[in-house]
Amino acid sequence: MQLGTRLSGKVAIVTGAASGIGFETAVLFAREDAKVVCADLNEIGAQATVDKITQLFGRDRAIAVKVDVSKEDQVAALVQRAVATFGKLDIMFNNAGIMHPQDDNALTTEEKVWDLTMDINVKGVWFGCKHAIVAMRKSGGGSIINTASFVALVGAATPQLAYTASKGAVLAMTRELAMVHSRENIRFNSLCPGPIREAIEQANGALFLASDESSFVTGTDFRVDGGLSSAYVVSH
Ligand code: NAD
Repeated sequence: MQLGTRLSGKVAIVTGAASGIGFETAVLFAREDAKVVCADLNEIGAQATVDKITQLFGRDRAIAVKVDVSKEDQVAALVQRAVATFGKLDIMFNNAGIMHPQDDNALTTEEKVWDLTMDINVKGVWFGCKHAIVAMRKSGGGSIINTASFVALVGAATPQLAYTASKGAVLAMTRELAMVHSRENIRFNSLCPGPIREAIEQANGALFLASDESSFVTGTDFRVDGGLSSAYVVSH
């Protein structure tokens, strides 16, 4: 496969890189000549992503790191590992997230399901932003992309209260970070996927936000949802 140059010279961390959007994005970032840190709770899956990148594009383009994004010490170590291995950090894709199978409506969702969802989907994104900011200050700036969801924009007619609330928090947090850190040349955008048809479509959105092509794009709720969030639909 032919290499591109849209991310030449850049170092990226992708969380949730073992599967789905994270997998496709890690491979696409590597194809566009970034060095990629493939981070996931699933260590074997993250290594499989690195193996795929090596098979397609050659050696020394990616490493796998096991991380639980809800644990700050592990996220700090992840960022330190990226800088120690590749020299700096330019792109942070805070993409890991869960939709708990027992996430339901306001009456039935258990507190432990709510807390776990918030720990991973919200606190995990905060920790990723926090430690990426520290590294990006040293390298003169960067692009941080946080995966939210279309349900944060329109709500979900099938109840998944904790998930929807968590993704709304990602949007709000990302907008504020974009304003607070704009003078440090650090851009923050949310990626808002619709229900996934092909994860590569999300990866292409993340690539635009990661690259310098989007240099004047910050604080956006970047929708890759086939227009779904512009439609008028009710549940009754
Ligand atoms: P996926 O389940 O295929 O991949 C998620 C990855 O995150 C997995 O590899 C998992 O091991 C990892 N992960 C889970 N908890 C983790 C933790 N605590 N620390 C580190 N890694 C962890 O999901 P996906 O469909 O690729 O979704 C990626 C992101 O996109 C998520 O944030 C999800 O909420 C969001 N999203 C997905 C859809 C969709 O239709 N699939 C729609 C909107 C938003």
